[in-house]
Amino acid sequence: MSQNPFDASLVTGSDALTGLMETIVDGVITIDGEGRIIHFNPACERLFGYAADEVVGQNVKMLMPEPYRAEHDSYLESYRYTGKRKIIGIGREVTGRRKDGTTFPMELSVGEINRGERSAFVGVIRDLSARKRLEQGLRDSEAQHRAIVETAVDGLIIIDARGTVRIYNPACEKMFGYEADEVVGHNIKMLMPLQFASQHDGYLSNYLRTGNRKIIGVGREVVGRRKSGETFPIELSVGETVIGGERTYVGVLRDITTKKADQENLRRSRSELQDRVRELEIARDELQRNEQEMAQLAQLATAAREAADLASSAKSEFLAIVSHEIRTPMNAIMGFAKLLVDARLDEPHADHARMIQRASEALMTILNDIIDLSKIEAGRIELDEGVFSLPAKLKAIEQLWGPAAGSNDLYLRTVTAPDTPKAVVGDALRLRQILFNLVSNAIKFTREGGVEVRVGVDSRDGQKVKLRYEVSDTGIGIPEDKHQAIFEPFTQADSSTSRRYGGSGLGLSISKRLVEMMGGEIGVRSTPGVGSTFWFTVICDDAEQAGEEAEYSFDSVGEPVASMRVLVAEDHELNQVMIRTVLEALGHQVHVVPDGGSAVAAVERGGFDVVFMDIAMPELDGVAATERIRELDGPGAAIPIVALTAHAMKGDREKYISAGMTDYLSKPIDLGDLLRVLHKLHANPGQTDVSIN
Ligand code: ADP
Repeated sequence: MSQNPFDASLVTGSDALTGLMETIVDGVITIDGEGRIIHFNPACERLFGYAADEVVGQNVKMLMPEPYRAEHDSYLESYRYTGKRKIIGIGREVTGRRKDGTTFPMELSVGEINRGERSAFVGVIRDLSARKRLEQGLRDSEAQHRAIVETAVDGLIIIDARGTVRIYNPACEKMFGYEADEVVGHNIKMLMPLQFASQHDGYLSNYLRTGNRKIIGVGREVVGRRKSGETFPIELSVGETVIGGERTYVGVLRDITTKKADQENLRRSRSELQDRVRELEIARDELQRNEQEMAQLAQLATAAREAADLASSAKSEFLAIVSHEIRTPMNAIMGFAKLLVDARLDEPHADHARMIQRASEALMTILNDIIDLSKIEAGRIELDEGVFSLPAKLKAIEQLWGPAAGSNDLYLRTVTAPDTPKAVVGDALRLRQILFNLVSNAIKFTREGGVEVRVGVDSRDGQKVKLRYEVSDTGIGIPEDKHQAIFEPFTQADSSTSRRYGGSGLGLSISKRLVEMMGGEIGVRSTPGVGSTFWFTVICDDAEQAGEEAEYSFDSVGEPVASMRVLVAEDHELNQVMIRTVLEALGHQVHVVPDGGSAVAAVERGGFDVVFMDIAMPELDGVAATERIRELDGPGAAIPIVALTAHAMKGDREKYISAGMTDYLSKPIDLGDLLRVLHKLHANPGQTDVSIN
């Protein structure tokens, strides 16, 4: 304790008092009547931050902030004169000032000590800072809580253990439709539908008895009742707290009407979505099934098309074989018919012979047409290209058909456009076949007037030249609606005309296919009763530009050939007679053997200029016999051998030539072809590959 230079005896009456002053928690300060500090205890030192010797003797005002500091003197003065106790004895709140200038709230009680004339004052000071802070904290937190309660979106209700509502916030007012003062102080049951209200008391009392928390703490769904009587779903969380020693329950409520509706909507749209997904799955399955069916159908269609192709090529094959088989005996019939006609029989036998000849020729034409068409349809025809002269070909047409036209009093003219190439590279025989079909039809269907054949260039592309042929007649014409159909097999413009004019209805179909093979088109312009113009185009190479020269014209047959010694190997008796008769009629010597073995033996013996070798023979066939002949030691090994075959297909020629044959003729033997082969053999005895077909 600090030394007191002023009358310390005033306050140091006893040691006990001194000890008290030293240890007391409250600040004790003593001043004299002038306001000077006499005593300043340790608690004061802590409170104000001054050491006692810094303040003792100073005016107590230093411990006060303005404006109290200025007022203090006048307090003291007025007290001295009036005795009016403004502060004495009253525990009141004032503000203190620390050494560092900061201020703090303090409770001050002042007592007066009188010793004779002199008086002193004792102040007991208690620091209120902590309490103030606490109070402020409490106020703040209460304000916070109120704000929360007032502004919470959720409803807040606090009830006591009996269920009486203590707090009921604005959110609840909105939710239930009751004002706070209608509810506070009343039982919470008023906010519940009847059936739940009766249970509620049970809950509460049960809970109070057993501590069994039926709803406490659990966010659960309950039903509320609005002032209007309407019920609605609530999500409720309940907490328990003790306020003022009493158990209370805080309920947080949320109106989940819209949430429920949203959930319901969500559930509905989810199930709708699931329905939709199921529908889509069904549709997808359907689609997959359809796709599978489509694939199966496509497979079936492919199989059907393959079967049809097979059937069609089998049919063509069949037709080709049957026609060949018929052609063999027909060949003999025609040969004998010719012999009979040539034999200058008496009438009427000579006439019969001519009729047989004509009928068999007609039949042969049909057979050839069928074979041609079926070969084309079976894809078994390939073009055989060579150089030929266009003017020569037109001249050949005139020569060939001129007589027929003339005998019907018809003219036959050919016209070649000036820029037409002299020679072209193409399949001359196929071209001739088309022209013959058209010209023979033109003559056949024309009674007056005549036929004109024109050729010219349709277009050029480098050395390629597209030739255009036109065959015009002044005949019966073709109705418009038949212009397409006549190009189909076995179709004729008018069935009555076919009876009158004959024909198979195959010529134009064959021509159309051949034209298409040659890269061209075919068509007709026609007016019934006026005439028709059949036209077609074919693509050839201009021989001049291609640097090739015409080797021969296909219609040059040549003069008669000198007599040759011919060995014929043929197993078919009728054919033996036929070939022998024809060859002998042409002035040749003929020896016939029935099989390949005999042929080899005959050649080995010698004495022949040429062998006509049938292919299909028993024992040793034509190909094997040829190979043996080529292996002979003598001069016979080099003898020309001409194959005779009924199965003349493209590729056969190569087969026979490579087997060692010189040439081949397809059966039935065409007289012109035979003559040509003989002529070539005579001209170039050793030359191979001079075949024409
Ligand atoms: P075909 O003459 O053997 O009957 P085509 O295929 O050559 O067979 O001809 C088919 C049909 O086209 C003939 O039957 C005939 O009705 C008609 N036709 C062809 N050419 C002429 C033509 N120049 N004038 C009139 N009709 C024709």
